[in-house]
Amino acid sequence: MTVTVATLGFPRIGPRRELKFALEKHWSGKEDEVALNTAAAGLRTAAWARQRALGADWLPSCDFSLYDHVLDTSMMLGAIPARYRAADGQAGLSTYFAMARGSTGVAACCDTPHSVTAGEMTKWFDTNYHYIVPEIEPGQRLALGRLTVVDAYREAAAQGFATRPVLLGPVTWLSLAKGQGNDPFDLLDEVLALYAVILRHLAHAGAEWVQIDEPILVTDLTEQQRRAFTRAYARLARSGPKLMLTTYFGGLDDNLSLAAALPVAGLHVDLVRAPEQLDTVLRAVPKDMLLSLGVIDGRNVWRADLSALLDRIEPVARARDLVLAPSCSLLHVPVDLALERRLDGDVTLWLAFAVQKIAELAALKTALNDGRDAAAQAIAESDAAAASRCTSPRIHDRQVQERVAAVTPAMRERQGGLVRRIATQARVLALPAFPTTTIGSFPQTPEVRHARAEHQRGNLDDAGYDRFLRAETERTIRWQEEAGLDMLVHGEFERNDMVQYFGEQLSGFAFTLGGWVQSYGSRCVRPPILFGDVARPAAMTVEWWRYAQSLTDRPVKGMLTGPVTILNWSFVRDDQPREASCRQIALAIRDEVLDLEAAGCRAIQIDEAALREGLPLRRAGWQAYLDWAVDCFRLTAAGVADATQIHTHMCYSEFNDILPSIAAMDADVISIETARSQMELLAAFARYRYPSAIGPGVYDIHSARVPDEAEMVALMRLAQEHLRPEQLWVNPDCGLKTRRWDEVKPAIAAMVAAARTLRIGVTAPTEPVA
Ligand code: GLN
Ligand code: ZN
Repeated sequence: MTVTVATLGFPRIGPRRELKFALEKHWSGKEDEVALNTAAAGLRTAAWARQRALGADWLPSCDFSLYDHVLDTSMMLGAIPARYRAADGQAGLSTYFAMARGSTGVAACCDTPHSVTAGEMTKWFDTNYHYIVPEIEPGQRLALGRLTVVDAYREAAAQGFATRPVLLGPVTWLSLAKGQGNDPFDLLDEVLALYAVILRHLAHAGAEWVQIDEPILVTDLTEQQRRAFTRAYARLARSGPKLMLTTYFGGLDDNLSLAAALPVAGLHVDLVRAPEQLDTVLRAVPKDMLLSLGVIDGRNVWRADLSALLDRIEPVARARDLVLAPSCSLLHVPVDLALERRLDGDVTLWLAFAVQKIAELAALKTALNDGRDAAAQAIAESDAAAASRCTSPRIHDRQVQERVAAVTPAMRERQGGLVRRIATQARVLALPAFPTTTIGSFPQTPEVRHARAEHQRGNLDDAGYDRFLRAETERTIRWQEEAGLDMLVHGEFERNDMVQYFGEQLSGFAFTLGGWVQSYGSRCVRPPILFGDVARPAAMTVEWWRYAQSLTDRPVKGMLTGPVTILNWSFVRDDQPREASCRQIALAIRDEVLDLEAAGCRAIQIDEAALREGLPLRRAGWQAYLDWAVDCFRLTAAGVADATQIHTHMCYSEFNDILPSIAAMDADVISIETARSQMELLAAFARYRYPSAIGPGVYDIHSARVPDEAEMVALMRLAQEHLRPEQLWVNPDCGLKTRRWDEVKPAIAAMVAAARTLRIGVTAPTEPVA
């Protein structure tokens, strides 16, 4: 039996973010479409050559995208909302970028300048990659656009690369699409007809196989979706190329029999997220269906344990032909570890980026086809790395483990119940009714970014940088006092990023210089790498808080990032459960909370911006996740006295199905995003009788528009329809770092004025409210 290697997709952004820079040059008008396409074609050619040289047998084409592969699919199907359609009906690159990013232009009809907003963007399953949500307008007709997948296949073939083109499957595309009261699945037959034509074109161009991605198969499916699968593949299987139905991000579970019964020629399953599905998959998948096993983690940066993998796969490979692949596209990991110069040797030994992962697959293939001796060196290196990960003192810290083991339930309980805390805090803080505050950051101006860059380059020494940051902080405190805010913040000027800032001060984290991963379009992030036990060698934020508080009599909030958010925005070690790592972070941040309190801080905000997005794809996994996530938050926060007010902040608005867990966090004040939903979500808080105080954001900081007093008063009046006045705070819906001071100043002034208007006739909450 033979084993071959596939890559399901390669990072598009380029080893040195070449795509990002090419896109930005094009958008700023410095380079035309031809230059952009030349740069993109160069990246594609390099990626094919690289993957083939590394030993991949199945090369993907059309895994590349200038912005987003979901948007590419929408364009191919002609799902272009009317507001983007040019007068001449053409849908070229400018239409594409308008859908991706919005545009300002001149309407063809009346010569007046108009702007179109971008399509909605949201997270691709449970990754940090964002796609443009397909929009299906009522009465929408579809029609084939440019067949980018056929172009990509031909482009590769012309260069001598035989590829397996990648298509996003019709059921996943429809499942991600958003109607406006209408049901996208009404278009199923129309969509299938177009897919059938695309597949026929691919066959005609010479494609023997097509990789058709249906990650929706690892989620809870409705009956409608299941029926759509059966109907779709009965039709598409007859359209030409053999189909490799590709699933990832989880196990097929109850959808396994559905998938295995589809008339496709191959099936790819994720054995990293769901290793336990191997046995049931082997039993369910017919012998004549080519099985592709996702054995190398496409979502994380750890080097694989080749010996352990071979132990599992050898018996399977004796019985049937196999394709070995990453669990999913390599889009979600950085390109090449060899480019990384800053990581120390130990950590480097434990890692594998996209290039290294393909080499691992090639080594597995060699060992399976020709015996382990044929891959002896790769196996020996992998063994050595695995052994050192088991024992390295850089990873394993006895003290941290003992501390986690010694956590008691009492450590997760505040001393007093909410009623007592509200009364105590009201006395200590003496805030007015409808207290005003902000979420933490103030504008990261070009000057702030410049100073940080100069400091990093060594052109500005530590003392000079510190002086600069203190001056920014002082100015911001003064301005907040003048503006009349009740609870102040220091402004977060010293922070590059809300997770990285803490990761850099904790042990157990490493940072890359070039480990970029695409977040959306040209935007990339460098997630911290959480490789070991986490400890906090020294206080992280106390001096900044102390300095800020020394400047004013008003309370200044301590500002921390919560453990769940730090975890969810990092590459997390895979040698222990995620929740074990989260508990370690929780203890480290708990130390910081207690140090802030000891320094005199009376209100501490612990941001959990990413708590909700950590929810598992399957409902069945939700409660277990929420339980440990809430536990970790409580472990972080609960050590303080009744008088210390714990705030938390979450910048999203979908709380309905997780409200009990939000309440169980037991924060004294929560600030949330509501400005865009007109306070609708507060009804849910009211129905649930949410007990603590809430700051429903009244200023949508994602928009450059400056709201006025009247509209914020109106929003707060809507809030009062649901919540008691003494429960309400007045604040923006997220940090202000992305805004400019000339936007922030009038908006906050109006917000303070709104709070003063609201206070008329209302007394401050000195009495318990519950
Ligand atoms: N405190 C952070 C800030 O204001 C919170 C950011 C966030 O929620 N994403 O920037
Ligand atoms: Zn936020």
